[in-house]
Amino acid sequence: MNSQHNRSQSQTSILINNGRIITADADYTADIYIEGEIIKAIGKDLQYNADETIDASGMLIFPGGIDPHVHLDMPFMGTYSSDNYETGTRAALFGGTTMVIDFILQKQGNSLQSALDDWNSRATGNCVGDYSFHMAVTDFNEETKKEIRHFVEEEGITSFKTFMAYKGALMIDDRQMIGLMEEVKQQGGLVTVHATNGDMIDYLIAKHRAEGKLSPLYHYLSQPEVTEAEASERFADMANYTGCPGYIVHLTCEGALNAVRNATRRNQNVLVETCIQYLLVDASLYEREDGAKWVMSPPLREKKDQETLWAGINQGLVKVVATDHCPFKWEQKLMGKDDFSKIPNGHPAIEHRMELLYSEGVHKGRISLNKYVEVACTNPAKIFGMFPRKGSIGIDSDADIVIFDPNAKHTISSSSHHMNVDYSAYEGWEVTGKVKTVLLRGKVAINENKCILDKGYGQFIKRNKVNGVI
Ligand SMILES: [Zn+2]
Repeated sequence: MNSQHNRSQSQTSILINNGRIITADADYTADIYIEGEIIKAIGKDLQYNADETIDASGMLIFPGGIDPHVHLDMPFMGTYSSDNYETGTRAALFGGTTMVIDFILQKQGNSLQSALDDWNSRATGNCVGDYSFHMAVTDFNEETKKEIRHFVEEEGITSFKTFMAYKGALMIDDRQMIGLMEEVKQQGGLVTVHATNGDMIDYLIAKHRAEGKLSPLYHYLSQPEVTEAEASERFADMANYTGCPGYIVHLTCEGALNAVRNATRRNQNVLVETCIQYLLVDASLYEREDGAKWVMSPPLREKKDQETLWAGINQGLVKVVATDHCPFKWEQKLMGKDDFSKIPNGHPAIEHRMELLYSEGVHKGRISLNKYVEVACTNPAKIFGMFPRKGSIGIDSDADIVIFDPNAKHTISSSSHHMNVDYSAYEGWEVTGKVKTVLLRGKVAINENKCILDKGYGQFIKRNKVNGVI
């Protein structure tokens, strides 16, 4: 017991020696001392008698990854996404993601509160890793308007998701969007958006079905780039008009990013998220026999769009790399074997975001180490009101820490992944860099490919108000 540091006996302590610490803006070798859930000291040759010492020589140390776009145990077309809160957050931890933000979907005609209760009934007590929710407002009216303040002030849910597509189920019209933006701005929150033109897409889906064009390729051809570019520009204009902070989820293409670039010329902040798949794989996959594995919305795009997105990261326009993790087993995907419009949308990626982004981004020289941490860890924490508790390696931050071997090589496969899905969208991909050890709030969660924590350790993290400037 090291009494000079007044450590209480109930708290365990860990000393991580000699790791190369990477944050969004620093790169240095030092020791990290953790007491309980919190980082207490960082420095060279720290002298503490810790309960446990980890030698991190030769390793990189990142803040725990944050994936702000996942759908766990999500009801969809009479089935559920195949990862529940336990399997999904555990798989995330294996890949160095210590926190996720999931989406609550309001049912049109019902209250926001009833949707929160529904989601809590599946999530509470079941998470291994930390989590939060975005509240998707699918029906904005005088009643739901009154609930916004409660979510921001009491529930710690400060981001409100909207859909400009999926009419009759999730979509709100522009009148509702403006009303929601005005209220959310007033309460100190952020509006996020699935920005695609729902009416255009509905028209194209109906046209292709009527012509008997039913293969997965027509999922892609029903959502051309213009549908996303148009909606992104419209969303940016409405956010600018109302002054509400705005965030575009899963942006995929050049046209949409150019709309955001234009908005920055009037000094508007439009926060942009892309997802790992849009950086790495393209629409040619839809011509394969098993193209349904990559059916998601928006769809995969062209090679030129991948280059635009990497450039967007380096230009500071793309702030976050998430996953939109929404896995369905192959049997579930077969619901749409005769009609692309019946394929459950989404793909599994929660486990591989950090390693793929490192291997394809940092290892291949597309982005810097600091940029990597910025888009995978720090910016999600800043944008969604959790910084510096999360997304940082600093004194008094949560001890969410990834110890990463930059040289270890491995191959992604459904035979070794931990997600509850019977295929991998990245089967056979060779990856350089591997998660070795993960700490979540001061506890070793993952070590040498084993998960040590149980479900129930993961906490709901209440988030602070946000202003859209990071
Ligand atoms: Zn999504």
